[in-house]
Amino acid sequence: MFESLSDRLSGVFDRLTRQGALTEDDVATALREVRVALLEADVSLPVARSFVKSVQDKAAGQEVTRSVTPGQQVVKIVHDELVKVLTGEGDPGYLKIDNPPAPILMVGLQGGGKTTTTAKLAKRLKEVNGKRVLMASLDVNRPAAMEQLAILGAQIGVDTLPIVPGQKPVDIAKRAKQQAAMGGYDVYMLDTAGRLSIDEALMAEVEAVRDVATPRETLLVVDGLTGQDAVHTAENFDGRIGITGVILTRMDGDGRGGAALSMRAITGKPIKYVGLGEKLDAIEEFHPERIAGRILG
Ligand code: GDP
Repeated sequence: MFESLSDRLSGVFDRLTRQGALTEDDVATALREVRVALLEADVSLPVARSFVKSVQDKAAGQEVTRSVTPGQQVVKIVHDELVKVLTGEGDPGYLKIDNPPAPILMVGLQGGGKTTTTAKLAKRLKEVNGKRVLMASLDVNRPAAMEQLAILGAQIGVDTLPIVPGQKPVDIAKRAKQQAAMGGYDVYMLDTAGRLSIDEALMAEVEAVRDVATPRETLLVVDGLTGQDAVHTAENFDGRIGITGVILTRMDGDGRGGAALSMRAITGKPIKYVGLGEKLDAIEEFHPERIAGRILG
């Protein structure tokens, strides 16, 4: 494992304070440590650079050089700035699911955790929010994926739209909409097909489904361990489909969570939930403080 950023910063400042008065250069040296640590945590270079710049401005404003505990002060500035960027502006992160039946479109690449996350979120909406949820798989190319959602639905006690072989994704979406309205569901979730990489056919398909469903939420599910790729995927999906939020999966893994910072800074989209394991209750709302703490170490 890496030495934590907090320890590293304290170490740098301890060495410096023993030499006497701190200078602006000393602070700049320490901030280089911050940049390296962010890059190690898989934050993209432009984001790391601009982040360090804003920390530098704050440090200058607070006259860190005169502080008795400059290390701690810089750690605090870095922490607060991380929370600020991760929180972003506006959207508090909850789902807009008024006006039943509210459609939620789940999008993402294959293997990112989309189907599992659809079930996790359905379970949460049912148990925490008391919603009646209907789930439908639109992955017509992979019958196993459709089966997987049905099995998960049975496990969590959430209905799934019956599978009709040979139906196209847009027609399944229409059927889900109808069934949700007739059956008195509060929410219906459309688990779209994933591909191994972004391609035109996938985007055209998801776009057509979006036009039929007019989703209240379009949630991109991406593997939080894939760093820059996750951000790239989000930019692509947002550009073409328009997403309302991101769910980062595999945040139970060894990664330092830097993708969250880049994601927020580059796409401007809120991270609404994080996936924390394979179990169906391993999902929680995004807490900027927790990720900030993890990046700091
Ligand atoms: P999809 O192809 O995007 O629908 O991906 P799946 O939902 O089938 O998930 C692929 C694998 O990732 C499965 O083995 C899931 O159990 C696993 N998975 C999904 N979310 C998480 C998570 O948050 N943490 C961990 N450790 N595994 C996850």
